[in-house]
Amino acid sequence: MPSSYCAENNAALAAVCCACRKTVPTALMITLNGYENGSRTHNAVCLVCARKGWRPAGFAGVYQRL
Ligand SMILES: [Zn+2]
Repeated sequence: MPSSYCAENNAALAAVCCACRKTVPTALMITLNGYENGSRTHNAVCLVCARKGWRPAGFAGVYQRL
């Protein structure tokens, strides 16, 4: 079951991709907004996963740069 909030953005330049779990430079990531269990989720994923079509639960259709 995916975590509703899996972005670990405390590092300035890298974050963990929600889809592949790799640490990726934020310049190569986007945030996908989802909706799960009654609250919005922000899921940081790398561009590779985003291009493959990975989307969070309840994807809101908004692409947002980190
Ligand atoms: Zn990824």
